[in-house]
Amino acid sequence: MDLAAAPPARLVRRHLHVAGEWVDPADGESIPVENPATGEIVGQVPAGTPADVGRAVAAARAAFPGWAATAPAERADHLDRLHAALAARADEIARTVALELGTPLKLAARVQAGLPLAVLRGMVDLAARPPAEETVGNSLVVREPVGVVGAITPWNYPLHQVVAKVAPALAAGCTVVLKPSELTPLTAYLLFDAVAEAGLPAGVVNLVPGTGPVVGEALAAHPDVDLVSFTGSTVTGRRIAHLAADRIARVALELGGKSANLILADADLPSAVRVGVGNALLNSGQTCTAWTRMLVHRDRYAEALDLVAAAVAGYRPGDPFDPATRLGPLVSAAQAERVQGHIARAVADRARLIAGGPDAPLPTRGHFVAPTVFADVHPDSALAQEEVFGPVLAVIPFDDTDQAVAIANNSRYGLAGAVWSADEEQALAVARRLRTGQVDVNGGAFNPLAPFGGYRQSGLGRELGAHGIAEFTELKAIQR
Ligand code: NAD
Repeated sequence: MDLAAAPPARLVRRHLHVAGEWVDPADGESIPVENPATGEIVGQVPAGTPADVGRAVAAARAAFPGWAATAPAERADHLDRLHAALAARADEIARTVALELGTPLKLAARVQAGLPLAVLRGMVDLAARPPAEETVGNSLVVREPVGVVGAITPWNYPLHQVVAKVAPALAAGCTVVLKPSELTPLTAYLLFDAVAEAGLPAGVVNLVPGTGPVVGEALAAHPDVDLVSFTGSTVTGRRIAHLAADRIARVALELGGKSANLILADADLPSAVRVGVGNALLNSGQTCTAWTRMLVHRDRYAEALDLVAAAVAGYRPGDPFDPATRLGPLVSAAQAERVQGHIARAVADRARLIAGGPDAPLPTRGHFVAPTVFADVHPDSALAQEEVFGPVLAVIPFDDTDQAVAIANNSRYGLAGAVWSADEEQALAVARRLRTGQVDVNGGAFNPLAPFGGYRQSGLGRELGAHGIAEFTELKAIQR
C-alpha cells in the first residue's frame, strides 16, 4: 500500500442494506461524517428511523428459518466468500478507518483491517463444524441458533467490533440487523459492499445506520429481536440491558475497562514498559482493553518512570496519513474535551505529571490530545478508577505482589490486564488472581480464537472463537 497517498475523497452513502438490497430509508435525514484530524466533513450516511429498523428486523426474521436450517458447511462457504470479498477491500478499509476515526494508516492496515480479517478467517473454519451435541443420561443436549440478533457497535474498532458479532452470529445460524456507530459508519458500508458481492442470502444480515437514541433504542427494544449484542460504554450497555429486560430478551455486553499492567520486580523492564506504553496509547488510547494503569514494583519504579517518559516521547500526535505518525487524533471534539477534563482533574488531584498534559504542543487543527502520563497516582483516585478512553497513562508503585493484585482488582471493571515477570510460573499465578476476562503474560499475543469479554461492569458474555458462537445459541434438552 502507498502510505503517503492522499486520503479518499468525500464519501456519500444514501441507502440501507435490507433483505439483500440497497434500499432508500423511510426518511431523507442524513448524518455527516467528520475527519477528526482536520474537522472537515468527508462523508454522509442516512439517519435511520424506527420504521427502517422494523423493516430490517422483518427481513432478518423472514430469513431466519432458512439460514438456521442451512448446513454448517454451506454457511461456512458463505462466510468464506465474505472473507474473500472483504480481504479484497483491505486497503480501502484501512484508509476509511484512518479517515473517519483517525487511526494512523499503518496501524489501521495492521489492526483495523487485519484483525477483523483474521477473526472472520477463524470463523469460517469454526462455522463448518456442526455444533457439538452431548448426551446427559437420557437427554440429548443440542444447541440451536437464538434467532434474530440486533448488533450495536462503537467507533473505536469499527470493523472488528462488527465482525466480532456478525461472523459468529451467522456461523451459529442467526440472522442480524446491524447498527454501527454514527461516528464511523463508512467502514460498515464496506462490509456490506462485501456482503452484496459475496451473495449472502437475502436478509441474513442487514444494515441500518443512525443514532443510538433513535436506531439503537428501536433495535434494542424491538419485540422480534431475540438477542441484543452490544459493544460500547457501560452507561449505554445499562440502558440496553433495561430495554431488553422489559421483554426478557438476551443481551451480550462488551463494555468499558480500566486494565492494569503489573510489572513485577524481576520483569524485563524495557520490554514491559515499551509494550505497556504502546498498549495504553494504541488507537490514541481509545481501546477498551488498554492497560491504562501501569503498576510497577517500587524497587524498579524510578527506572520505569524514565523508560516511560522516553517511550512516550516517540508518540507525537500527527496526520494519520503521514507514515511517520504513531498517534492520531481522538474521534471527536467531544471525546477530546472529555479526555482533557480527565487530565485537568488528575492535575487538580495532585498526580505527578511526567509527560504531556494540558499545555503540551499539539497540531493546530483536529481533535488531538498529547500522550500524557501521571506518576504516583492514588489507586482510589478518579484517574485510577474512571475509564478515560484517551492517551493517558496512570503509573502506580507497589511494594509486594499481594498489594499489586489488590490494586489491580480495585476496579468496577474487569476486562483485561497484563503481568510481567522473569518467572513465568509466578506470572501465571498472578494472572489467575486477576478478576478480568483476559490477561497477557510477558506480552502474550492477542488470540482471535480465545473468548473475549469482561467481569463485573466490563460486560456480560463472551465474543470470538467457539465461545463467541455459543453466545448466539440456545440449549435444548431432548429426553428419550
Ligand atoms: P457508546 O455507548 O456511546 O456507543 C456505542 C454504540 O451504542 C453506538 O453505536 C451508539 O450509537 C449506540 N448507542 C448510544 N446510545 C444508545 C442508546 N440509548 N440505545 C441504543 N444504542 C445506543 O460508546 P462509544 O462512545 O461509541 O464507544 C466507547 C465506549 O465503548 C468506551 O466506554 C469503551 O470502553 C467501550 N468499548 C468496549 C469494548 C469492549 O469490547 N468491551 C470495545 C470497544 C469499546
